[in-house]
Amino acid sequence: MEEKMTCIVCPRGCELTIVNAEDVSKMEVFNHLCIRGKHFAIKEKTNPMRTITATVKINDGKQNRLPVRTDGEIPKKVYMDIVDIINNIELKAPVKREDIIIENVLDTGINIIATKSVL
Ligand code: SF4
Repeated sequence: MEEKMTCIVCPRGCELTIVNAEDVSKMEVFNHLCIRGKHFAIKEKTNPMRTITATVKINDGKQNRLPVRTDGEIPKKVYMDIVDIINNIELKAPVKREDIIIENVLDTGINIIATKSVL
């Protein structure tokens, strides 16, 4: 079986063709301009991971939104659960860049951290 997938590793967005996607041991990847596309496709079919960037509400600061991100990749299957958690965060200034906003979110071993200081 053949399927198509867009590589999201870089802005070029190669349209990958994956053959034998149902069996990783026989899987072949075509149309990738670099090896990262092949690795991406294999990971997507075995254990897809994502990084989340977002903003959260912050009160009593010079800005009312604080940019945050995961400090590593989380399993794609819990992506929306973590987005829901992030969407319900409300903080109070000051927060410093790289402060941990949520530690070990959903037991992933990954933290949600601030990517900017808001005083
Ligand atoms: S295959 Fe390589 S060049 Fe193409 S989108 Fe992926 S990372 Fe970029």
